[in-house]
Amino acid sequence: MPGASAPGGAPVVVVGGGIAGLAAAWELTGGATFDPGARRVVVLEATDRLGGPLHSASFDGTTVDLGPDGFLGRRPEAAALCREVGLGELLMPIGASGASLYTRGRLRTMPAGLMLGIPTRWWPVARSGVLGPAGSARLLRDALLPRQDRRGPLGDRALGPLVARRQGRRVVEALVDPLIGGIHAGSVADMSTAAVMPQLLAVKRRGGLMRALRRAGTATPQGADEPAFWALAGGMRSLIEALATGLAGRGVELRTASAVSAIGRDGQGWTLEVPGGPLEAGGLVLAVPAGAAGTLLEPHEANVASLARTIDYGSVSVITMAFTPELDLPPGTGFLVPRHTPSPIAGGEELLITAGTFLDKKWPHLARPGRTLLRVSAGRFADRRAEQLDDEALAVRVASELGAVLGTEARPAETVVTRWPNAFPQYRVGHLLRVNGIEAAVKRLPALAVAGSAYRGVGVPACIGSGRAAARSVLESLAAGPASS
Ligand SMILES: Cc1cc2nc3c(=O)[nH]c(=O)nc-3n(C[C@H](O)[C@H](O)[C@H](O)COP(=O)(O)OP(=O)(O)OC[C@H]3O[C@@H](n4cnc5c(N)ncnc54)[C@H](O)[C@@H]3O)c2cc1C
Repeated sequence: MPGASAPGGAPVVVVGGGIAGLAAAWELTGGATFDPGARRVVVLEATDRLGGPLHSASFDGTTVDLGPDGFLGRRPEAAALCREVGLGELLMPIGASGASLYTRGRLRTMPAGLMLGIPTRWWPVARSGVLGPAGSARLLRDALLPRQDRRGPLGDRALGPLVARRQGRRVVEALVDPLIGGIHAGSVADMSTAAVMPQLLAVKRRGGLMRALRRAGTATPQGADEPAFWALAGGMRSLIEALATGLAGRGVELRTASAVSAIGRDGQGWTLEVPGGPLEAGGLVLAVPAGAAGTLLEPHEANVASLARTIDYGSVSVITMAFTPELDLPPGTGFLVPRHTPSPIAGGEELLITAGTFLDKKWPHLARPGRTLLRVSAGRFADRRAEQLDDEALAVRVASELGAVLGTEARPAETVVTRWPNAFPQYRVGHLLRVNGIEAAVKRLPALAVAGSAYRGVGVPACIGSGRAAARSVLESLAAGPASS
């Protein structure tokens, strides 16, 4: 909808300078092809840095990511945006496949034939030893004496219980929760299947789940197919920098340290309270966390505020380490640690670490002879132990847990601790009902849309897609004129 005119020529304002907000600004100015007739765009970011968790730093002489270290290749949005901003040649495919699970006292290779952690074949799982004899026997029942699925009228179910009913509790604890719960820093006990794995609700209710998933043809066996993930040679920060440069070149005003404290209606437009004085906006994209969007919209759509506030956030700490000389690591990109795994140190207390990534195996462009780069995550929703330790204590604790998991006395030569408070929205059962409610309420407001990880996917590609879709929706609303709102 290039060049649609706003009341008084006021700019379209994007609130939130994370990847969703920057992608929205990119789309507002024409997307792949700059539209010189596009309306003026202003991006307002509360902190002093654009990009949110897409943040990289120089570490042991290498640029490493401190937040997301890559993105799914199967979804096109992120790689497409990288190419649009001229970073196509910096896209690096993942360099290893497979991973391990730290379970039943040691690292075990993740079995083949999993679909986001859900087994589609019995034998590879049984042979891997990740479930133990009782768990493997219970999984076999899914093939021999399958339980019928029960579904309520809402069209959604909690993912963990849904899988447990058909494949047993152990499958959920050892595989599904570490994989899917881990991606969201949450728990599959109350996670929305419709939001995170809708294909599971589409498979046959009768018969075994393994068979149904195989028949649906949705299994993605470990190590098969094309590289599933991309990284950027200059780190994810290079995407933010390229976007910021490209947007500035398009005349977009990028303001950091500009928290929006309130928004008011101004006829068919908006007035924003920002440091330095009020700002008029012809259209608005709110690319902020759900709670912030709720607070800003409360005076205009109380429904949005109450729905948005039900979306909780989990916090994570990332500890990046360099080891010299290099470590002897198991194959694959890293390991996952199921919840409630007793620590082999610290008197059997639950391990703090939830996952480890072998950075220079996963991303060969980071490799240097004689050194191992590794990062570990700690913390998830309702597990705040990592947040209660200061950086030094956390680094020491994590290094000793890592040593025990990998079976090494080696300690890192360099460590950096990065905290990501309230970074992962929790998609609980009924999440899409909430999101539909928020989006429907927001549609009643003139030229306004919401975007970001709170709604329809936490991954970088999903956030980019949501930012661009929000931009198109605002442009359509502006092009349709006041009657549409
Ligand atoms: C440690 C970690 C690892 C991850 N790993 C991966 C991965 O490997 N692959 C992947 O695809 N995804 C990964 N993710 C997820 C992904 O990075 C995020 O979901 C995504 O970056 C969120 O983008 P966003 O724009 O929605 O939100 P944000 O980046 O949080 O942006 C929202 C912005 O709004 C600003 N804001 C809030 N209130 C206001 C206000 N009132 N006024 C102005 N500005 C405001 C905030 O300061 C923030 O900058 C990871 C996330 C983390 C934290």
